[in-house]
Amino acid sequence: MTASIPAIRSISDWRRAYADCVTSPEELLHMLGLPSYLLPGARRASALFPLRVPRGYVARMQTGNPDDPLLRQVLPLDAETSDSAGFMDPVGDLRAMPVPGVLHKYKGRVLLITTGACAINCRYCFRRHFPYADANASDRQWDAALAYIREDDSVSEVILSGGDPLVLADHKLHYLVARLADIAHVERLRIHSRLPVVLPERVTDGLLDSLAGNRLQPVMVLHANHGAELDASVHAACAALRGAGTTLLNQTVLLRGVNDDTAALEDLSLRLFAMCVLPYYLHALDPVRGAAHFLVSEQRAADLAAELADRLPGYLVPRLVRELAGEPGKTPLTTPRHRETRSS
Ligand SMILES: *Cc1c(COP(=O)(O)O)cnc(C)c1O
Ligand code: SF4
Repeated sequence: MTASIPAIRSISDWRRAYADCVTSPEELLHMLGLPSYLLPGARRASALFPLRVPRGYVARMQTGNPDDPLLRQVLPLDAETSDSAGFMDPVGDLRAMPVPGVLHKYKGRVLLITTGACAINCRYCFRRHFPYADANASDRQWDAALAYIREDDSVSEVILSGGDPLVLADHKLHYLVARLADIAHVERLRIHSRLPVVLPERVTDGLLDSLAGNRLQPVMVLHANHGAELDASVHAACAALRGAGTTLLNQTVLLRGVNDDTAALEDLSLRLFAMCVLPYYLHALDPVRGAAHFLVSEQRAADLAAELADRLPGYLVPRLVRELAGEPGKTPLTTPRHRETRSS
């Protein structure tokens, strides 16, 4: 008993918050004062893909509201257990993976899967089909990825992705970033992370040092889906990242019952900009099994994008895209009606 106390104290704030996520459906429902009829479905669905949500993120949810847009992103639902046509286990794009953990699909930029772990389990995530226990890339694997990047001088940008790359310890990230900075043709370091939003404690001085302390130009693409996710703690994390010279962008997944209305998307863009974050992509849902209840039709998605464009300056309108295997970049999503409206 007593031996564990110093160990707990020696863990930094973000490590403690990361380890202390809510993982029990009973506890989550209790914390939010939600009815127990949700429990059997939550239990069944969490057996397929566990519940996992940082406490600070739960604190941003409304109590007593089973339709809260933040809750909907993390609460396991019975709907996940039924199959839906076209929604399957995702297949990895192996052709685009020249070395394990390296995705090279698009010109000039290479994506590194640095870890399979994440701080939160979003119900629509493709990770729900990969039972990653400890998928951290070993340093040996990084050697192969670094060698691949070193040999291709067309690569000017390296994207750290996952899972969530900011789950990695500061010293590991620092090592990886320093090795990338040693490669002369790499100019930009991009990090795709939801942690500054769901676990803003992660923005440590050590992380800021890794971003600012080398010649690479840092870009971070956050992942927020709703304005209510962006509280003062996220604001502070973004200010610190900007202080370290990081350009901040955001990507959003279009989700039914979360952000599929113009007012919610407009509010998200405005709140992001208030933190000096520009909306980058609005992603159509990947058809992963168990996520069909989040689907927004292509027509509705295109209509929402057109309505947003009518209300906001162009730089606050994210690009509506989907990812298609074999395409040389993200594919813009427009429908015939949308094109007609735009060109008339
Ligand atoms: C999305 C993605 C990128 C980055 O694309 P951008 O259009 O530059 O944001 C790079 N590689 C892969 C494999 C991707 O899926
Ligand atoms: S933050 Fe990203 S990687 Fe993590 S669960 Fe959500 S969608 Fe998946």
